[in-house]
Amino acid sequence: MSKFFTEKYSSLEPYAPGEQPKDLQYIKLNTNESPFSPAESVAKAIEKEAKSLNLYSDPECVTLREKVAKVLGVKSENIIMTNGSDEVINFAFMAFADEKNTLIFPDITYGFYPVFAGLNRIPYQEIPLKDDFSIDVNDYIGVNKTIVIANPNAPTGLFLPLEDIEKIVLSNKDNVVIIDEAYIDFGGESAVKLTEKYDNLLVTGTFSKSRSLAGARLGFGVANEKIINNLNTIKYSTNPYNVNRLTAVAGEAVLDENDYYMNNCKKIIENREFTKCKLQELGFEVLNSSANFLFAKCDKIDGKTLYLKLKEKGVLIRHFDKERINDYNRITIGTKEQMEILIQKIKEIFKEKQL
Ligand SMILES: *Cc1c(COP(=O)(O)O)cnc(C)c1O
Repeated sequence: MSKFFTEKYSSLEPYAPGEQPKDLQYIKLNTNESPFSPAESVAKAIEKEAKSLNLYSDPECVTLREKVAKVLGVKSENIIMTNGSDEVINFAFMAFADEKNTLIFPDITYGFYPVFAGLNRIPYQEIPLKDDFSIDVNDYIGVNKTIVIANPNAPTGLFLPLEDIEKIVLSNKDNVVIIDEAYIDFGGESAVKLTEKYDNLLVTGTFSKSRSLAGARLGFGVANEKIINNLNTIKYSTNPYNVNRLTAVAGEAVLDENDYYMNNCKKIIENREFTKCKLQELGFEVLNSSANFLFAKCDKIDGKTLYLKLKEKGVLIRHFDKERINDYNRITIGTKEQMEILIQKIKEIFKEKQL
């Protein structure tokens, strides 16, 4: 740390992204990216748009918002576009949480929530998930705090039914409830339609997982127009051009071929259920995932050893050195071929260790 780093940030613990190795050709099942490249139309749109990079991007993302609105069945006034959904989550914390409206979220969830809370110096409380890693809805009823819930949750993959989300939203009318739907296209039911009914609900989404654009950085928020206006105040106070021209046209091209991406989600769901069965056959305990990853443990081998052994064999999965989930690994669902290799490698490891 330099002597110039301000005291307010000196204890800030930044988010630790999953490994993005540049050396070996790993089978990458560690950061929940899509195994499928974006359709050809994305490259074409980007090439065409490159000629206009001398001009700033549209801060209002008019065309893109219209297309998102159409796909989600809402109005474009109800949408804000951001540089990944991480950005809209940060904007929401800035806009809707402070010392008075403190944050609560589960103890096991997306690692960026405590980081953004720390960055913005917002006190937060982590509510333990139940023993089976599900959320106890009662913990969030009438708490009068700003609530953040990833649904499906990460890294568990568990989905909380919409009735439960609605109860939480209804019972905290004086606070914003943020539902992070990064993984909603893999089997959950979106809360977007509830944003028409409740003025305290903000749903966030991303093009990173189901729409193959993790590297482009594109996310969005859906809410009542007043909430969106507040988020825009934060956006225009930090970076009005947060969505660059290339990313905007990539996002538009993706939405023009939405069926291709939703069909990829179907394949991933199939591969997920295939992998789950295979892991169970090998003696793993696997949570019921509604996302593009599985959260699994095996009594025969501890989580960290499995992660390290698979890495030696060229397969990257995600292990979290965190209490309660040490035994587990999070395995991103890739292509059928990738999942077959994963299972093969686990079998090899078990054989070598005579398990
Ligand atoms: C991946 C992820 C995000 C955000 O990803 P972006 O790439 O910033 O859009 C948000 N929430 C959860 C739970 C995630 O796993």
